[in-house]
Amino acid sequence: MTKPNPEHEPLRVLFVTSEVAPFSKTGGLADISAALPAALAAEGCDVRVLSPLYGFIDKQRFGIDSRPIAAAFSRTGPESPQPQFYFLECDPLFDRPGVYVDPFTNRDYIDNDYRFIALCRAAMEFIRAARWTPHIVHCNDWQTGLVPLYLHESRARKSLRSVRSLFTIHNIAYQGMFGADAAMRAGEAHKYFYPAGPVEFYGYMSFLKAGLEFADSLNTVSPTYAREIETSGEISHGLDAVLRARGEIGGILNGIDTRLWNPAADDFLPATFDSGSLDAKETDKQALCARIGLPYDRSIPVIGIISRLAAQKGFELIAPVLGEILALPAQLVLLGSGDPYLERLFTEAARSYPDRLAVRIGYDDEFSHLIEAGADLFLMPSRFEPCGLNQMMSMRYGTLPVVRATGGLADTVADADSNPVTGTGFSFDDYTPEAMMEAVRRAVGAFTERPRWRKIQKNAMAQDFSWNRSAKRYVDLYRRTLSSNPRVIA
Ligand code: ADP
Repeated sequence: MTKPNPEHEPLRVLFVTSEVAPFSKTGGLADISAALPAALAAEGCDVRVLSPLYGFIDKQRFGIDSRPIAAAFSRTGPESPQPQFYFLECDPLFDRPGVYVDPFTNRDYIDNDYRFIALCRAAMEFIRAARWTPHIVHCNDWQTGLVPLYLHESRARKSLRSVRSLFTIHNIAYQGMFGADAAMRAGEAHKYFYPAGPVEFYGYMSFLKAGLEFADSLNTVSPTYAREIETSGEISHGLDAVLRARGEIGGILNGIDTRLWNPAADDFLPATFDSGSLDAKETDKQALCARIGLPYDRSIPVIGIISRLAAQKGFELIAPVLGEILALPAQLVLLGSGDPYLERLFTEAARSYPDRLAVRIGYDDEFSHLIEAGADLFLMPSRFEPCGLNQMMSMRYGTLPVVRATGGLADTVADADSNPVTGTGFSFDDYTPEAMMEAVRRAVGAFTERPRWRKIQKNAMAQDFSWNRSAKRYVDLYRRTLSSNPRVIA
């Protein structure tokens, strides 16, 4: 193997992730796992993405090579440009209809520890089998948390000595906690499983904590979330002390794929538009209303929501004031799936307000584009939000976000009342239904002030949410990680 000399050759990055669009997706991680590697490749990195081959991935459609190139890895066609996607084939573990959750029972697969130990082991195997030694193994969230540990344990091997790991926290709320027996299954991890040890958390084996403790470098996906998880036990779900012990965690904002999310060239829209032709957005609003069965009314704003129906997203603020929102001159369109209680609550409410509220339970990428384009406002009252993508997509489509100022939402949305010249949306601080209502009222009121509304839309559309800047910051972080000593845990 050649000795890595990152100053003179492309940085080799193995990006390990449990989901990657368009192959598999449950949330923002999948978008990021597609767009960041592409942006890194554009920066000159040699990037390979490793993810499981789930049962629902259409191998034929994506041209995934059915001949495994090495042991259990298959990949998209050899002609595929950078980055290259590699898939871990392991039918008993991954040939299933869900990523983490069994759609038939709505519960996590009971062997998720086995499944993601396998992914982490596979990353190590990949490095050996592919005869391609990365400089950096970029790990993402708990499912990849054991990779830094395995790498740490492999440092005795000369060929792996120079490889460094970066662990990115996309959402610290998901910690990969399993019974103590998981530590036995996870091989070398078991020796670190003891009270308050590096993989133990309140009696459980925590994959996330393993990642936080063993990675050579850590970061997260927005500067505000970085501060929040280091200082708040509530937002860090108890891991703030572990983070503080590691020193300052940087936050690099996610971007969005500005080719997929481009109102001027979006195949899913009846009318495309840019900031100079915002009148065409009205055609999309009409189409949205027609498609979801709401009466179209140009004079009142449509508020969109596209979300996992999960507590994190702030639905507990919306539920008690839903009647109040719908009594405003406004309509609400919700696309989402998740918590069965929330699914029922909104579906039933839609029956009571047929002219004001329309709900689509499910996951629908195409329809999500129409909502982004056709809605006037986008509501995201999250309890916490590591970065959030939908507020950025919304701004790009001239759809003004109403957000709680937390995490990445605070870093990307400027309140139009507090920032009369540069405002891009509406935000509120307190996590209460009243504070949210106050922001929703301001937003709905602003809709009637046409010249001002247009100005805020143009501000929002002028923001640069592409990956270019953030990819450069990741390259810098990789280089800093490579030039510092590896993490050593006794
Ligand atoms: P999170 O990762 O916490 O779910 P993000 O805002 O980072 O939140 O990313 C969510 C991504 O998933 C966005 O691309 C959003 O459009 C998409 N999404 C969420 N729910 C749905 C849905 N029901 N249909 C289509 N897309 C959805």
